[in-house]
Amino acid sequence: MKRISLFIISLITISASAQTTIRQDPAIKQMVDEVSSKNIESIVRKLVSFKTRHTLSDTVSKTEGVGAARNWIKAEYERYAAASNGRMKVQFDEFVQPKGNRIDKPTPMKNVLAILKGTDTADKRIYIVSGHYDSRVSDVMDVKSFAPGAVDDASGTAVSMELARVMAKRRFPATIIFMAVVGEEQGLYGSTNVAKRAKAEGWQIDAMLNNDIVGNTYGMETGLKDNRSVRVFSEGVPAVETEKQAAVRNSVGGENDSPARELARYTKEIAERYVEQLDVKLIYRRDRYLRGGDHIPFSQQGFAAIRITEMNEDFNRQHQDIRQENGVDYGDLPDFADYDYIQKVARMNLSTLANLALAPSSPQNVGVITSGLTNKTQLKWDAPKGKAPAGYYVLMRETISPYWEKKFFVTGTTANIGYSKDNYLFAVQAVDAEGHESLPVFPKPVR
Ligand SMILES: [Zn+2]
Repeated sequence: MKRISLFIISLITISASAQTTIRQDPAIKQMVDEVSSKNIESIVRKLVSFKTRHTLSDTVSKTEGVGAARNWIKAEYERYAAASNGRMKVQFDEFVQPKGNRIDKPTPMKNVLAILKGTDTADKRIYIVSGHYDSRVSDVMDVKSFAPGAVDDASGTAVSMELARVMAKRRFPATIIFMAVVGEEQGLYGSTNVAKRAKAEGWQIDAMLNNDIVGNTYGMETGLKDNRSVRVFSEGVPAVETEKQAAVRNSVGGENDSPARELARYTKEIAERYVEQLDVKLIYRRDRYLRGGDHIPFSQQGFAAIRITEMNEDFNRQHQDIRQENGVDYGDLPDFADYDYIQKVARMNLSTLANLALAPSSPQNVGVITSGLTNKTQLKWDAPKGKAPAGYYVLMRETISPYWEKKFFVTGTTANIGYSKDNYLFAVQAVDAEGHESLPVFPKPVR
């Protein structure tokens, strides 16, 4: 069953624009509708046409190999950017990966970034959507064989590209980066380069959505077919924290409220608000069992990052030479991808990114006041930088609940909630008059 909103809204302060209903923003809905499965399919098939996009493959040919693929992606982004009035800039993020694990010689690599500058120059927030455009077959060092990589990960690359096409025409106060990275199959090299550069250059990345393997709706062996569920993986304990932060986390029970986990919950709420027949499954793990992806280098640099992946995987497709064996087809061919499903995942990403980039920034210095013993919960915070919010939601849930259960609207920067901090978890998010919510902030104990 589709989860209609579970939120019960309590109004502590009645505002002029009564925030009593969860509303769709017609402008976001319009963008969601513009995401096209036909465009997505043509992007995936074009990427497959380069025969291989192996990170170490040919860079000279105009029609085959990783060089031709990245040049085409860049040209496509530039075509979309033409509608942005100069606000979208496309660049290669270039680096030389030294010889190492799965890299047989020092190799120049290029990620492709389309950066849609925020319209508010004082707003430093950055939101990233990413897929990896490199592909592989059974042998990870095989640079010659046909490696279509339709689902892994032309599907995720197509999400970044289709969103760039739709969003380039629109105005957002915050910056959005549409990313296609390389080197994932060789060891997350492309995403690692961007994440380190972001840290070194002080980018304020508030959220990174990694789409990897988002186009298959058939579960190998189980035979399950599911075109409405999608998984969101998020770490519970932050990859980076100081000893002091870890001590606070332990003493307040914050192990289920990392920035990545708040982002995952947010994605579920917003995507299900806009996308029909979509069930976002939160998986409380950094990634699939013992596996990894391009969100991890971002987590490791201290940014909130999640992985979005199809519900059931078909391992006869991933990292396989194209062949038939005992009547079974192997290989990641474009005919096995479900383009309506990729469209749904793209819409999920779009609604989340648009709601974030239109929302006010998150409140600052959010704290639970601990100066006196009380069976209520007193919270305080500072207004966010930039656009003033219409108010704030204080979110509340039981400690065993996966999702926020109650939401209190307040217009000031304090709240006194009649439920004990010993028994419930809280967070605070800013909201504007149109109902765009910021990411929720999990409070620290303050006096
Ligand atoms: Zn992949």
